This record gives sequence, C-alpha cells and structure tokens, in this order.
Amino acid sequence: MDLVCHTIFYSASDRVSFLHFLRTVGQVGGAVQTYESLVARERESSSTMNSNNVVLTNQNTMYDRLIDRATGGLAEQLYIRNGATQLLQRMANELGTARVRLNSAVMRIEQPNDYETEDLSSTFDQYPVTVETLDNVRLRCKFVVLTVPPPLAARIHTEPPMPASRDILCQSMVCGAAIKTITVYSEPFWREGSASGSFLSSNTDVRWAFDASETLDSGECVYALAGLFIGNGALHWSDYTSEERRQAVCSAYARVFGDERANTPLAYFEHDWSVDGWSRGGLVASAMPGTLTTVGEALFRPIGRLHFAGPETAIASYNYFEGPS
Ligand SMILES: Cc1cc2nc3c(=O)[nH]c(=O)nc-3n(C[C@H](O)[C@H](O)[C@H](O)COP(=O)(O)OP(=O)(O)OC[C@H]3O[C@@H](n4cnc5c(N)ncnc54)[C@H](O)[C@@H]3O)c2cc1C
Repeated sequence: MDLVCHTIFYSASDRVSFLHFLRTVGQVGGAVQTYESLVARERESSSTMNSNNVVLTNQNTMYDRLIDRATGGLAEQLYIRNGATQLLQRMANELGTARVRLNSAVMRIEQPNDYETEDLSSTFDQYPVTVETLDNVRLRCKFVVLTVPPPLAARIHTEPPMPASRDILCQSMVCGAAIKTITVYSEPFWREGSASGSFLSSNTDVRWAFDASETLDSGECVYALAGLFIGNGALHWSDYTSEERRQAVCSAYARVFGDERANTPLAYFEHDWSVDGWSRGGLVASAMPGTLTTVGEALFRPIGRLHFAGPETAIASYNYFEGPS
C-alpha cells in the first residue's frame, strides 16, 4: 500500500487521508484495480527480480497498463512528444501576449468586503476585484479563478481574509515530494533480454522508472531513462548534491537492470519540484488525515468572486492533466 501511495500521491501512506485515497482510487476503478495495475499482476508477469520488492517489467506490461485505459489503465494514456510544456506554449501563442502575463506572480487579491451579501447580477458589469502581482502590476477584474494548489494559494494574501474553513484546508493539504530525473545513455541497454526499462521498487532510492527515449525530428534517437525519487525518498535526497543524486540514480539502475553500463551515462538532468517555490512538490496536493471530513467542502466552495479549480478539485482524472481541463 505504501508503494501505491508513493506512486499515486508521491507521499507516504500515513500522510494521505483514507477518504482522499478512496476518492482518487475510486476514479480509476477501485483500490483492488489500482493495486493490481501497479503491482500485483505485474509480479506474476515480471521477467526478472533482481532484489526483493522490485517489480521489473517486460514489454507490454505495467507501464502499458498504466497508460492504456482500454485495458483498465490508470492514466497517462497520451504521450506528449517534446514535453508537456508545449501545451502551455501553444495555448499562450493562441491567446496572444496581450492576454497572457509571464513572470508575474499573484501576491494579493482584494474583493469587496460585503461579498457574502453582494448581488452579483446587479454588479456584473463592474470590476471590483483587484489582483496585485510581484512585478507591481494591479489588475481589475470581475472574478478570479484560482487554479494553484491550496498550499500555493495560501501564500497569496487575500482581503478580506479567507474564511476559517478555507484557511485550515490550505494548511492541511500538502504537496507530494518528487525529484524527476532524466539519464541519457549511448545505447538502450535496459531493452536487452525482455526488460522494458520500467520498474516500481520499494527498496531502491529511485522508486519508479521508465524508458523515456525519444526520436528527434532529425531522426536521431536519444536513449534515456526517466526516474523519480518520490515521497520520503525525495525529501531525503533533496539535501544531497546533484552529483550525489546522479550517482544514486545510476547505481539504482545498475542494480535493478544488472548492468554496469548504467554507471556511465552521457548526460543527467533533474528537477526537484519540492524546492521549486512556484510548485512546492507534486504530483498535486493531497489531503492529510481528517481534512476532508472537517473542511473538505471548502476545496470547491467559491468565496464571493473568488473561485477554485485545478487538479485538486477535479472530479475525474484527479492528479493528472485531464483533471482540471
Ligand atoms: C514530477 C511530476 C510528474 C508528473 N507527471 C504527470 C504525468 O505523467 N501525467 C499527468 O497527467 N500529470 C502529471 N503530473 C501532474 C501534472 O503536472 C499536473 O496535474 C498539472 O500540471 C496541473 O496543471 P495546472 O495547470 O492545474 O497546474 P500547474 O501545472 O501546477 O500550473 C500552475 C502554475 O501556476 C504558477 N503559479 C504558482 N503560484 C503562482 C502565483 N502566485 N501567481 C501566478 N502563478 C502562479 C506556477 O508557476 C505554474 O506555472 C506530474 C507532476 C509532477 C510534479
């Protein structure tokens, strides 16, 4: 169960409320399916077990099931070539620079004090909400839709202050911890034999890895493994240097795939989402035990002209891109 929590929430199981767990796994078909898709059926079909609790997959098994809804997969059925950032870049291009402000973090939102009694239909043409940004821009608007996770929303000063339930909710939802790594090799040694490069593990520093090789427009193939430090492992490894993490990643691959070529990559890239101040971790924020039964409603309830969206409020595909879309 801890492996499932780490893989879905990037958090240890004691940090995720049971209700939150049920809500999420309910969207993907239930706890048994979640567990089986991630681990159990994989054990039956594993090609190699290099160490206890390492699930090393052969072709067409775990990762395929994760990405293929038709066969009961959990999520991630689409692969965005050249990276997910392109989605944002293309949407921004379509909207135009006049409508998209970059490097302009919202620091303060002020709405009328009487928002609880305000007649929105009679004041619809007015722009009574003020948004202030870090680069000292003041914007006037009718409504604000806040899509950042609750722990990030809590860093935005609001006038009047948030009701107690919303404030406690923001204090009780925590982002999972994740360091994503990409290690580039001259050859895909992990594909030799019947291994696909995917594994889930509860006893290596890198808990989850998969083949992230890509063919460039030029036709050249870049061979790479994506690996994730997640949950407590990410918190632990966050204090180390990038070079120390690179060594840990390579030795995990050498151990799991039983191949010393893992120790001589061409390049290594990483991003520690927990120390990224505009993200504070990932995948998304999870509710701590007791949160949803006390202040859970505040996750969705608008406060005057301030509305909330994002993966945390999704009613399907919670955790994933499709959720807030
Ligand atoms: C390591 C990792 C791997 C993931 N893998 C997958 C995957 O394979 N498939 C999948 O579907 N999902 C994945 N996710 C989850 C996915 O990234 C999120 O579900 C998705 O990005 C949510 O989109 P969003 O627009 O709601 O929020 P975000 O993408 O988090 O965007 C929020 C934006 O708000 C900005 N921001 C923060 N504070 C402020 C502020 N005060 N003012 C203005 N802007 C602010 C941030 O800079 C950020 O650009 C992954 C997440 C992580 C961390």
